Amino acid sequence: MNEQSSKAFSDFLAFMSRNGLNTTAQRKVIAEAFFELPGHHSLEEFYQHVFKLDSGIGQTTVYRTLKLLCDAGLATEIHFKDGITRYEVARPNSHHDHIVCLSCGKIVEIYDQRIESLQREIGEQYGFVLSGHLHNLYGICDVCRKQDKVD
Ligand SMILES: [Zn+2]
Ligand SMILES: [Zn+2]
Repeated sequence: MNEQSSKAFSDFLAFMSRNGLNTTAQRKVIAEAFFELPGHHSLEEFYQHVFKLDSGIGQTTVYRTLKLLCDAGLATEIHFKDGITRYEVARPNSHHDHIVCLSCGKIVEIYDQRIESLQREIGEQYGFVLSGHLHNLYGICDVCRKQDKVD
C-alpha cells in the first residue's frame, strides 16, 4: 500500500476498535482494495474488483464494509442523476466536485477556489455556515460529441 492508503487503513482499524467492531480478514481485504482503487465505483463494480482478489467475499460483506468506511469518514458516497450510488476514497483536503458525461458516464473531478468561496459567501448571505455541498455538473463530453457528428 502507498503511504496514503496505509494511513487510511490504520484509521479504519482505529475506527473499528473504537466502536468495538470486529475487523475480520475479509473486511481488511475490502478496505485495502478500496483505498488502493482510484475513481468512483458503484457497489457492483467494486464488488467485481474484490471478487478477483478473493472470490469468497460476498457482495453483502462488501456493501457493509463500504458503509463502515463511510461512517469512519474514509469513503464518500456520491449520487449522480442516474440514481446509482458510487463510492470514492475520502482524503483530507481533497474536496472536489464532479462533471458527469450523460452519454458515456465519464466522471471528471473539478476544483475551483472561486466556486468554493462563492458558495461560502452565498451561505453567509443566508446566515449559514456551510459544512459541505454537493455540486455536480452534467453534460456531454468532447469524445461523445465527436462521435455524434460521425454518426
Ligand atoms: Zn462521454
Ligand atoms: Zn471524485
